Amino acid sequence: MSHKQRPCPCGSGLQSSWQHDARGIPMCRTCVRCHTAKMDGYRADVINNPNYDADEPIDDDPPSFHQESFDDY
Ligand SMILES: [Zn+2]
Repeated sequence: MSHKQRPCPCGSGLQSSWQHDARGIPMCRTCVRCHTAKMDGYRADVINNPNYDADEPIDDDPPSFHQESFDDY
């Protein structure tokens, strides 16, 4: 393998690798030195939740139970 290692843009000179969000979109390159600091600038759901950009939350819709009161006995 002759994959050339790219030095990190942070200037550390260390090998960097692309960091992708939950959708596989490349966000930035990080090395071990700046990884924590850079990833700290991203929302956790951007990294972990592929639906982060959705307007409505994609939760399993709760059953619409109507708790009608049966207390008129
Ligand atoms: Zn770096």
